[in-house]
Amino acid sequence: MTDPQQLTDQAQTAIAACGDEVTLEQLRVRFLGQKGAVAELLRSLPELPASQRRDFGKAVNDAKSAIDKALTERRELLHQAALTARLQAERVDVTLPGRGEEPGGLHPISRTLMRIEALFRGIGFDVEEGPEIEDDFHNFGALNIPADHPARAMHDTFYLPSGLLLRTHTSPVQIRALQRQAPPVQLIAPGRVYRRDSDLTHTPMFHQVEGLMVDEGVSFAHLKGVLVDFLRRFFDRDDLPIRFRPSFFPFTEPSAEADIGCVICQGEGCRVCKHTGWLEVLGCGMVHPNVLRNVGVDAERYTGFAFGMGVERLAMLQYRIGDLRLFFDNDLRFLRQFR
Ligand SMILES: [Zn+2]
Repeated sequence: MTDPQQLTDQAQTAIAACGDEVTLEQLRVRFLGQKGAVAELLRSLPELPASQRRDFGKAVNDAKSAIDKALTERRELLHQAALTARLQAERVDVTLPGRGEEPGGLHPISRTLMRIEALFRGIGFDVEEGPEIEDDFHNFGALNIPADHPARAMHDTFYLPSGLLLRTHTSPVQIRALQRQAPPVQLIAPGRVYRRDSDLTHTPMFHQVEGLMVDEGVSFAHLKGVLVDFLRRFFDRDDLPIRFRPSFFPFTEPSAEADIGCVICQGEGCRVCKHTGWLEVLGCGMVHPNVLRNVGVDAERYTGFAFGMGVERLAMLQYRIGDLRLFFDNDLRFLRQFR
């Protein structure tokens, strides 16, 4: 290669066809590097006749300038193209709607449990928990439920192969509490309970809150005072009608069931209250002396009352929910209403 103009043409063609900056740098080295084509031309200068050196030298310098210019322009072009491609690839459409974050919410059963706990804590009750797998003594025997009581029959209770069982009520917690600490005791025991029942109004697992107060001189008047106050505050109605009906439970004597005036129809009579105007909401009574004796509490000195309520039932009434199964379907359309 001895003609500077030809070298310039060749270089410009190669540079124009170059598609990336790495290859472009290789072209620069090939044409303008210390051992490149232009340097080679300059080295051949002394070999020329003296009369031609001046023109040839100028031509080589022109070629060098032209190639350098082509390289610079091409480099700028490639740089712009790379920048444009990157901006295109990393483009953020700020007009798109945001993804948003939906706040979660507590399950209505959890909310009801927390409300019950808050109301009883406010009047000095402790909140106790106990195991969901129980033994016969704590679930039945200590609670004065004789071996032939219907609650013990297989169709009510889930028995485990070991002979243990899934607790059928939260009452075992009061037995454990009384075994652990001497009176005075005042506690509630919220939690899951299990029964072999499944139909429109029963689920095999549901929630109960058990309550217990044992001390010297505790009477049925205390029971009524605590429960009337609780129910009126739970349903937020100072004039909520409440009545106690005699009932039977093996672990209380006397026993009662508490009804409230129907919160759906205000006592007029509706489907929910079966047209009686009343809704049964809890069972209660004075702790049977046998129960106190079974856990070593002096039944001559101490008396107490106990009560138990179904959390699903209270939640249904509080939130006006007509179907028990909604609590367990985990349908988000239902649950989102309780955020
Ligand atoms: Zn009613």
